[in-house]
Amino acid sequence: MNFPNISERLYLSFINTRIVKHSKTHELITSESDLENWLAFIYDNFTNYQPAMVVCRQLLSELTEYQLALHELLTFRESLYHQLDAITHGGKMADFIREIEKNINELKPKIACIDRNVLLVPQSETFCDSLQMFILSDILDSFSKGDIDKLSHCHNHECVLLFINKTGRRKWCSMEICGNRNKVKNFHNKYK
Ligand SMILES: [Zn+2]
Repeated sequence: MNFPNISERLYLSFINTRIVKHSKTHELITSESDLENWLAFIYDNFTNYQPAMVVCRQLLSELTEYQLALHELLTFRESLYHQLDAITHGGKMADFIREIEKNINELKPKIACIDRNVLLVPQSETFCDSLQMFILSDILDSFSKGDIDKLSHCHNHECVLLFINKTGRRKWCSMEICGNRNKVKNFHNKYK
């Protein structure tokens, strides 16, 4: 199954690596190669995250305890999903941002210049911490640019995907995943 290309944000692309279709959950990252593919997907589709992806891909290739890292990442994703989900249901943005700040500070950020790109990296320089740092920083960037205020859920109730609803008129995560299915459903309801 392909990674949904429905948001231009790193943190949302990360959240959207779990899909619910026909009431069945599909986990898109279950192996080291899935993770490699996901990093390549971000690298290929979103040029502004390329420097961060270069760092992550390098660290992943050196990683020895892959299972531990995967478990940590999925736990991180789960907790982030619940926090973002709460925001879409009227949760307090200020509290959420304080929490993200705290999480970043716990990773003890430091500045690194990599190929003329200035990046905030964690003190530990491990794969997991680095990816988390890039994702958390992206949330703060999304907050400072204001697009996080347009965070939306797909209108398909069983779908768990999140995206930035720039115009406010977007209903579906994508036509391919939910939009077309719903159109077909409406068509049948209308003519049965
Ligand atoms: Zn959807």
